[in-house]
Amino acid sequence: MKLTEIPVANFIGGLWQASLSRETFETVDPATEEILAKVPRSDSRDVDAAVKAAHLAFYGEWRELTPAERGRLLYRLAQAIQSYRAELAELETLDNGKPLREALDDFDGVTRTIEYNAGAADKLQGDTIPLGMEVIDFTILEPLGVTAHIVPWNFPLGIAIRSVALALAAGCTVVLKPAEETPLTALRLASIIQEVGFPNGVFNVVTGFGEEAGAALVRHPLVRGVTFTGSAETGRKIMAQAAESLKPLVLELGGKNALIVFEDANLERAVNDAMEAVFGNCGQVCSAASRLLLHTSIYSEFMDRFCERVSQLKIAPGMENGDLGPLVSKEQLERAMNYIRIGQEEGAKLVLGGTRPTHLKRGYFFLPTIFAEVSPFMRIAQEEIFAPVVAVFSFETEVEALQKANEVPYGLTAGVYTQDIRRALTFAQRLETGSVWINGWYLGGVQAPTGGVKASGFGRERGLPGIHNYLQIKNVAIKL
Ligand code: ADP
Repeated sequence: MKLTEIPVANFIGGLWQASLSRETFETVDPATEEILAKVPRSDSRDVDAAVKAAHLAFYGEWRELTPAERGRLLYRLAQAIQSYRAELAELETLDNGKPLREALDDFDGVTRTIEYNAGAADKLQGDTIPLGMEVIDFTILEPLGVTAHIVPWNFPLGIAIRSVALALAAGCTVVLKPAEETPLTALRLASIIQEVGFPNGVFNVVTGFGEEAGAALVRHPLVRGVTFTGSAETGRKIMAQAAESLKPLVLELGGKNALIVFEDANLERAVNDAMEAVFGNCGQVCSAASRLLLHTSIYSEFMDRFCERVSQLKIAPGMENGDLGPLVSKEQLERAMNYIRIGQEEGAKLVLGGTRPTHLKRGYFFLPTIFAEVSPFMRIAQEEIFAPVVAVFSFETEVEALQKANEVPYGLTAGVYTQDIRRALTFAQRLETGSVWINGWYLGGVQAPTGGVKASGFGRERGLPGIHNYLQIKNVAIKL
């Protein structure tokens, strides 16, 4: 499908609709700074129409389908996504900037997520509770109803599907609001969902700004659950908005994740993984390693190998499939540059990068950046930068490593590289994060729950615990 054929309207109740105000906004190719498309700038009236369509669908045909029939539709969707994988990946690369190879991987993940949830749809069951001979007591798992999904721009369709597929498997209906930077694949998904044969209104997309469309969606009284992935700052606002009508929330917020390397680690593997953990998706990943904690005895050797690899990374437009594409937007580029200034003012040592590459005149490109001699309470050690920037620390003892790893506001992921099983499991117990990875990074899969503690949010996505975000328990008791 050519770019000009991509639907650029809201998808509401199975129909393509312009915003009621007729206003639009532009989405830009971050590699060229050129306009890719104009999409609806939705306001509360458009959101109201989408939520009402989802509400109607929930109480209509969708609730009458058996769980197995829902699963079959999801499975058909997984197959359709796989068949459009190349086209979807190109669209994602144009809109987000990521190397095409990474976008293709994202769509394998999208397919796998939908497959898993397709299989789970008819395996969600309640309990019977023993209350003696006089009463039969059991639980029914019921879908919440209309669910709102507000997603960021770093994995536009990956993160959307990470909650949408679960909500659909559970029997909910969905209103998705993609990020303003990257709305295109969500709209393309709507056309695929239509083609696959989901009933009208089960899946709806409204494009627009966070403070307008996003806030209206969270506040809408017919929305029964909200899932948000994004910054902690926006998470706080969304939680306050949802509190007005007491909606349950899943919040996956930022991270300041530590990759910890001990003296007994397989250094080659640790360096190799750090390259992906720090610079994958241009560092724009909540669970990226943005801090490296290195034991003093291997510090120099690790840094020599790491810096050599980093200086060889190829920065190029995503369609040319280099190692790093551009950052997603001018705002993110300015944010990264601002943190470089802050880090230098705080006294950290800029070892590599810190500027735009000179060979690319257009686009929001930024060099992979390493700060060393970082102390734990500098802002660059505490705050999420969301760019290819890593802060490096050294440590002497396990206690010191643990303390440094934990003394940040966030708690999403952490990784420990060691051959010592006692040490690995001690860290698994004591790291204050939702996920701990041992001798690897980005471990786990669609079956394994992920999420945060502290300022990284709450609720778990993926796996069966993820689907339970979209179900409520009803207890039925029968006196005999
Ligand atoms: P960033 O600031 O890095 O662009 P955000 O976390 O602000 O990321 O945005 C992620 C998503 O949250 C986007 O879809 C955005 O439109 C939405 N959003 C932003 N502000 C609000 C808000 N006040 N209410 C609801 N959604 C919002």
